[in-house]
Amino acid sequence: MDERDEFAWVNAVPLALLLVNGRSQVIALNPLASELFGTDQAGGHVVTVIRQPDVLSAITTCVDQQRPREARLSIRDHVHETLYRVLCQPAPYLDGVGAVVTFEDVTVEATAGQMRRDFVANVSHELRTPLTSLQGFIETLQGPARGDLNAADRFLATMSKEAERMNRLVTDLLSLSQVESEERVRPTERVELVGMLQSVARSLEPTAKSADMTIEIKSPKPEVWLPGDEDQLMQVFTNLAENGLKYGSDGDRVDLNVIEIHRDPILGQAAVKVDVQDHGQGFDEMHVPRLTERFYRLDDHRSRALGGTGLGLAIVKHIVGGVKGRMRIQSKVGVGSCFSVILPKT
Ligand code: ADP
Repeated sequence: MDERDEFAWVNAVPLALLLVNGRSQVIALNPLASELFGTDQAGGHVVTVIRQPDVLSAITTCVDQQRPREARLSIRDHVHETLYRVLCQPAPYLDGVGAVVTFEDVTVEATAGQMRRDFVANVSHELRTPLTSLQGFIETLQGPARGDLNAADRFLATMSKEAERMNRLVTDLLSLSQVESEERVRPTERVELVGMLQSVARSLEPTAKSADMTIEIKSPKPEVWLPGDEDQLMQVFTNLAENGLKYGSDGDRVDLNVIEIHRDPILGQAAVKVDVQDHGQGFDEMHVPRLTERFYRLDDHRSRALGGTGLGLAIVKHIVGGVKGRMRIQSKVGVGSCFSVILPKT
């Protein structure tokens, strides 16, 4: 049996794999490894295939000491970085000493881990700001302002606002975690959309009034039914209409337009589209891809001043995704923004 046949089994391994002999020469590599390193030439020193020092050192140490070694390999093209866990196992059966080296793509786990860390950092930061402010007021009321009733009244009003902010944040975090866990459950109920939009508008009436704005609903039919969870869809349109009132206050109204679509080209079926349109300042569309990320805000200060948590659109996106719908965001500076939600009709 020649070497080629002897090592033919490497082709069946579903990970990129190299066999390295006692002189750190590559004696076989499978097609996944050839693709990864852009060569199918066995025979050369491992440095001709891999140049990253950490990985080379893991392989040569494993060969020399016949002990398992692990390393990370990062491969970049101009757009993406792919991360591999490199496992080097001693393989004394090769030619006395040697190693089997596998490359497992761990990009998804690494990205998920990073996202989790960012999320925890963001939440801590968001909670710390009102908490620090509350602590400051408590200390002032216990110290320099002790017994000053006027100051106490003023401080307590601000403290109550800060506590409300924390409350909103925790409520939104719970909503987000709930919609994330329910995302894969298909709705069994049917919801009447027009009546639901009217209740959204009613519940936002005080907010609209204080901004001197109105919410106007237009629908081709008095009733439009579709599958969904009423509470969740209420939340979608409440969040969007509330944003329209908050960020579109240069206009005098927010429009909720219901449009029936015979066949949505992307969903591939009959759908209902609701356009939540404001007539405010709008924004540059370059922000659109990131707008539904948690805590992404165009203007941090403005969002906070208006009581925003930075989670509203992330919640909307999850709920819409959960009912297999989609979102479309369009905006024009100086003209206004339109957040469209397209939901399957059946
Ligand atoms: P927030 O609690 O900050 O409002 P959202 O997730 O609801 O969080 O929205 C994220 C960001 O998107 C907002 O901070 C704001 O910058 C921007 N945004 C959302 N809706 C609109 C809108 N109708 N017009 C302009 N900007 C908007």
